Amino acid sequence: MSLAHGRPYLAIPGPSTMPDRVLRAMHRAAPNIYAGELPGMMPRLTADLKAVAGTRHNVAIYIANGHGTWEAANCNLFSRGDRALVLVTGRFGEGWADSARRLGVAVETLDFGKRSPVDCARLAEALEADPDHRIKAVMVTHIDTASSVRNDIAAVRATLDAAGHPALLAVDTIASLGCEEYHMDAWGVDVTVGASQKGLMTPPGLGFLWFSEKARAACEGADLRTPYWDWTERAAPEEFYQYFGGTAPTHHLYGLREALDMIAEEGLQAIWARHDTLARAVWAAFEAWGRDVPDIALNIADPAHRGRSVTAARLGAPHATALRDWTETEAGVTLGIGLGMAAPGDPAYHGFLRVAHMGHVNAHMTLGAIAVMEAGLRALQIPHSPGGIEAATAVIAGR
Ligand SMILES: *Cc1c(COP(=O)(O)O)cnc(C)c1O
Repeated sequence: MSLAHGRPYLAIPGPSTMPDRVLRAMHRAAPNIYAGELPGMMPRLTADLKAVAGTRHNVAIYIANGHGTWEAANCNLFSRGDRALVLVTGRFGEGWADSARRLGVAVETLDFGKRSPVDCARLAEALEADPDHRIKAVMVTHIDTASSVRNDIAAVRATLDAAGHPALLAVDTIASLGCEEYHMDAWGVDVTVGASQKGLMTPPGLGFLWFSEKARAACEGADLRTPYWDWTERAAPEEFYQYFGGTAPTHHLYGLREALDMIAEEGLQAIWARHDTLARAVWAAFEAWGRDVPDIALNIADPAHRGRSVTAARLGAPHATALRDWTETEAGVTLGIGLGMAAPGDPAYHGFLRVAHMGHVNAHMTLGAIAVMEAGLRALQIPHSPGGIEAATAVIAGR
C-alpha cells in the first residue's frame, strides 16, 4: 500500500506546477501565425512581460530554455575576447560563466561559495583592479537555485556606481521572476535573463531577455551575435515571428498569455508576499527539525539572504535522498535534489535536498509538503527535533 495515489505534487525548483488555466489555454488547435489572434496578442504580451520585470525598455523572446537564454545574453553582450566578471553564489552562476567562457569571452569569476551572497566589498576591489574599464559586463544570479541564496541586486548596482565603473549589469532572474521582488529599471539593471518554467508557470521552452537602451547601444556590433540569438529583431516579436524568426512558439505563447493574466489578477505585490510567507513556513519547519540536531540546517543561515522561491537544506547523508525517495513513493510529493553541493558519486551528495515554493503554489501545497517531510523523518527514524509542522502553521496563521 502506498499513500502516493492522488494528485502528485512536484515540488522541484523547475519546472514548477502548471496551473490548470495555463494547460487549458494551450489545449487547442494550431493557430494561423500570419494573421488573427496570435500576432494580434503580441503587443500586449510584450507589454505585460516588461511589467513583470519592471522595465519600460525592450524584451526579446526566444524559443529556448534557460541555458539557451544565457547563451542569447552572452552573444548579444560580448565580442570575442571581451571581459566579463561573473559573481558566483552557486551552480547557476558557474553555469552562466561557463557558457560565456566557451563562447570565447574572457571570464573572470568571483566565487562567494555555496552558502553566502555576493560580498560587495570584494566586488569593489575587483572593479578597482580594473582602472582601464576593460570589464564589459558584471553578471550575477538574483536567486541561485542551487544554493537558494538571494543576491542584493540594487547593492551590486550601487557598488558599480560608487566605483565609477561603466560595466553593464546583467542579472539571471530565472528562479526569481514572478516570485521575488524585482525592479529592473529602478535597480539599474541593463540585461535581465528569464525563462518560462518557474515563476512564470508555463512549460519550459520560452526564454526572455530584457535589455536597456544603454545595453542596446553599448552592445551594437557585438561579434558573438548569430542570426538566431541577435536580440535586435527578436525584440519586435509582433513582426519578428512572421517575417524573421521562424514559426512562433504558438502554444507556449497561449500558455504564457494565461499565466500573465493570472499574475496581473493577483498582483505582483501580493505574489511577492505569498512567496515570502510560504518560504518562511518552510524555513520555520527546518529550523524546528534542526533544533538540537546539527546535521539538519538551512543552507543559507541568514534569512536576509534567502531566496523566497526555493529552499536548499542539508539533512546529513544519506538522509536527504532517503527522505526524497520516501516522500515521492509513499506520499506523492517530489522534492528537489541537492544541486552542485556535492558530486553525484560522492556519498555527501545524499545529504542535500531542495524544496520549491515557486509560482502556482498555495498554503495547502506547502504545508502538505512540510507535513509529508515530517512524516518521512519519523517513518525513516531520521534524527530530528519535533515541531516542524507546528512552526510552519504558526507562520501561516500569523502572517
Ligand atoms: C533553472 C535555472 C536556470 C537554467 O534554466 P534551464 O531552463 O534549466 O536551462 C538558470 N538559472 C537559474 C537561476 C535557474 O533557476
